[in-house]
Amino acid sequence: MAAHTVYKEPAPLMDRENPLESMMSRFNIAAEILGLDDETYNVLKAPDKQVIVNIPVTMDDGKIHVFEGYRVIHNTILGPSKGGIRYDKNVHLDEVKALAAWMTWKCAVVDIPYGGAKGGIICDPTTMSAGEIERMTRGYTLALKDIFGPDRDIPAPDMGTGPREMAWLMDEFSKTNGMTSPAVVTGKPLVMGGSLGRTEATGRGVMVSALAALKKLGLKPTEVSAAVQGFGNVGSWAAVLLHQQGVKIKAVSDISGAYWNEDGINIDEAIAYKNAHNGRLEGFSGATPMNPDDLLTSAVDVLVPAAVEDVITEHNAHDIKAKLIVEGANGPTSASADPIINEKGIMVVPDILANSGGVTVSYFEWVQNKQGFKWTLEMVTERADRIMSDAFEKVYQTSQKYKIPMRIAAYVVAIDKVAQTYKYRGGF
Ligand code: GLU
Repeated sequence: MAAHTVYKEPAPLMDRENPLESMMSRFNIAAEILGLDDETYNVLKAPDKQVIVNIPVTMDDGKIHVFEGYRVIHNTILGPSKGGIRYDKNVHLDEVKALAAWMTWKCAVVDIPYGGAKGGIICDPTTMSAGEIERMTRGYTLALKDIFGPDRDIPAPDMGTGPREMAWLMDEFSKTNGMTSPAVVTGKPLVMGGSLGRTEATGRGVMVSALAALKKLGLKPTEVSAAVQGFGNVGSWAAVLLHQQGVKIKAVSDISGAYWNEDGINIDEAIAYKNAHNGRLEGFSGATPMNPDDLLTSAVDVLVPAAVEDVITEHNAHDIKAKLIVEGANGPTSASADPIINEKGIMVVPDILANSGGVTVSYFEWVQNKQGFKWTLEMVTERADRIMSDAFEKVYQTSQKYKIPMRIAAYVVAIDKVAQTYKYRGGF
């Protein structure tokens, strides 16, 4: 019989700020502005459901590891819950709760009929074989078979997961229920019901909202420079699409370090290099290595944090030189940095608006799966761009109306939509 090992305790949130507290402090400000009544406030402030699962997985050496996984359903007032699954060693229940709530607000901002959810497993996928990841994904799906469903809760990729994991999830769920259910998950490979345009959707939304913001600031894309933190799916697509619009990308970074080129980095070359070198930019000759901590405070007009939470804090916000921050990541700015950024007059396109292009095209994928009809790339792009532009304008007008920063305006738009719907639907 295989020997059993006890998986280590979840990683603590360590010295980073608690994303749940960051989310709640913005929520509280927006609730105050809206004059939200106590009943609605109490319904929206906490997740509807938090599921913790233990997943025993036979590892390649024959031993069994028990992984801890989560699925948090924040809210389903607008529709079935929607949100990605994160595989990372720093996954923490409070983080998943914040990410689930952000999904509720994100879907409400772009006006798509979903509630919010998020999942995660504490694991290090970079040290696991494909077989181990597959068995863990199938175990997680089976453990959550009564939570997931095309009209209940619809997962998608997030950090550490992609089309491959979504394919396993779809297959396991379908087998368990005795029918093929493509609409149970989005971000699938194209051949099995994925949508054209889904891969680049989040980065594209970042580009569209950055362009809308530049216009409000009276700046032309061809006249500005940018730094992009994170060169995964979101960061690399945001960089390539901004570059195509004429923005000079002076800095990019990934797990291996940060890289600077005063004349602008050739992003297509950087992506080709990354793809040929194990997904890392290390050794890329088209830019000079720089201190990764300096990227966020470098001399650029636009900053795109597209990596992890809480990278812009009260410690570095004072030194930011950019005029515009477009948040590709979820929660890259901790709440303690907000007043400093506002004081400096920096415009922020907040995460729940800037990165909502991903879930928007996830929604299109789900609609196509339900219709059994595939849309063209033009249909996807044109509709997604319109949704992003409309959402940007709505948030911008709200910020003007209440004289509040874009971030709080996005929460106001989102909470107002959910609260109004709740009033019609009613409680128990
Ligand atoms: N994980 C992505 C996000 O944070 C996508 C979620 C989805 O497509 O459901 O927005």
